[in-house]
Amino acid sequence: MAAEQKPDLSVIKMLVMDVDGVFTDGTIIIDDQGSQSKRFNYLDGHGIRLWHRAGLSSAIISGKDSRATAIRAGQLEIEHVSMGCTKKLPAFESLLARTGLAAEQVACMGDDLLDLPLIRRAGFGVAVANAVEELKEAADYVTTRCGGCGAVREVIEYILKATGKWDRLMERYLV
Ligand SMILES: [Mg+2]
Repeated sequence: MAAEQKPDLSVIKMLVMDVDGVFTDGTIIIDDQGSQSKRFNYLDGHGIRLWHRAGLSSAIISGKDSRATAIRAGQLEIEHVSMGCTKKLPAFESLLARTGLAAEQVACMGDDLLDLPLIRRAGFGVAVANAVEELKEAADYVTTRCGGCGAVREVIEYILKATGKWDRLMERYLV
């Protein structure tokens, strides 16, 4: 991992996620008709809802154009969705310009080399457990869970707990 000094998680306002290998385990199922499907994880979905409830925003920057991704993003009310990004940094810079956020205010999750510029540029760069070595080396944090198996939820809980937002969110589950 890269961090010489710890990132300031209290300034994080947005979580940017890759999809294949981060929000999913990377499997793409193609049937005889050629239609594709992906498998998303419920824990991650609920995590996104908790993240939004804490007043934070979320975004997807994916290399692939996918209807399944668009539908899942819609279900989870992920505000910013960029797909078909052959290079991710321009999409990231455009997202910063649209939201008025600085890179330091963004946490970014990835698994493959396409995500490397974002992991290096973001305030909190995260590689999932199944990420390539280059990404893990550049990241501030490497998850113990793999993509599609709760890695997104892990990062959300990590940030919310580190910034004192978690206990407040739990109140509604404890009555
Ligand atoms: Mg990926």
